[in-house]
Amino acid sequence: MNNKIWLSSPHMSGKEFEYVKEAFDTNWIAPLGPHVDGFEKDLVSYTKSGYAAALSSGTSAIHLSLIMLGVVAGDEVLCQSFTFSASANPIVYQGAIPVFIDSEKDTWNMCPKHLRRAIEDRIAKGKKPKAIIPVHLYGMPAKMDEIVAIAKEFDIAIIEDAAEGLGSRLNDKACGTFGELGVLSFNGNKIITTSGGGALISNNEDYINKARFLATQARDNAPHYQHSHIGYNYRMSNVCAGIGRGQMTVLNDRVAQRRANFEFYEKALSNIKGITFHQESEGSFSNRWLTCIEVNPSETNGITREDIRLTLEKKNIESRPLWKPMHIQPVFEKYPFYGDGTAAELFENGLCLPSGSNLSNADLELVRDTIYELFNQK
Ligand SMILES: *Cc1c(COP(=O)(O)O)cnc(C)c1O
Repeated sequence: MNNKIWLSSPHMSGKEFEYVKEAFDTNWIAPLGPHVDGFEKDLVSYTKSGYAAALSSGTSAIHLSLIMLGVVAGDEVLCQSFTFSASANPIVYQGAIPVFIDSEKDTWNMCPKHLRRAIEDRIAKGKKPKAIIPVHLYGMPAKMDEIVAIAKEFDIAIIEDAAEGLGSRLNDKACGTFGELGVLSFNGNKIITTSGGGALISNNEDYINKARFLATQARDNAPHYQHSHIGYNYRMSNVCAGIGRGQMTVLNDRVAQRRANFEFYEKALSNIKGITFHQESEGSFSNRWLTCIEVNPSETNGITREDIRLTLEKKNIESRPLWKPMHIQPVFEKYPFYGDGTAAELFENGLCLPSGSNLSNADLELVRDTIYELFNQK
């Protein structure tokens, strides 16, 4: 049997170890240290965001964002339904109410029409939402121009979940820099990793200073331990930041490698009737974190995305259905939802193919040939 082909596995450059070794050599193992500052500078210069705070996860970055925007129990927060649960969980940590918004068919992200309808309806029902969380799912930029315009019109802040979108751009502006606050993740399966970590980016220095304060247990400026706020242990460690610094040196290569995976699959598979690929719209540049296909069984003689997934699994190849939307998740289905079924249909028919930047040509060819075999086509 061939070695397992993973959906998206960590891909070290070799440079990470030099940074980690430096942390060990200088005994900067304690949480904060020079690599944390260096990593934040790297993120700022890459995204052209004003400021960055390195944190323990993308989830903690969303949580701190909600806290800084003053989201408290009973408030409502508008959140893209088609996403990973970590986009929505922190809303509930705050005791607030997620209101889920469906996707549009072009980018698969938050639909501006449903967003507007939801805002108007929530206001009519007596409560203006406190924040909007759009997501750049699979690295595909959301329709930020329209979403930002609506947010401005109603004066609601945007927390941009760019956890999957580091390296993606819309009209040459980095994903994560359109909202008041942008969220990045360096979890093990993301385009670059610190083994676990995240960051908050913003053009507002106050937000970033406050995030650093809250993330380090909210210690007031005093010789003893003095606290006027509830704090969190959400900061990134100097060792993890060292890994991040090494990864930043190859981020553009990783984007190029993932985009090449997409091109390989598209060229090899788009002649199969009933398989279509997630396309970029004008002005958008996706990091192609994961290559996603839609499978239309009425055009494939009944072959479904699940048939493809199980066939790949038999060959030790990991693929995965697209994210199951939040509004149909058992834990979230009681919350309001505004939409037309687009995300649910994507979940029904969509599949993520192995997309790591460390896949070999032989790996990609095995995925292709396994799918060819299923469709009995050469
Ligand atoms: C990974 C991810 C997160 C959370 O990031 P962690 O670093 O794993 O906490 C949030 N939103 C989306 C869309 C993600 O894919």
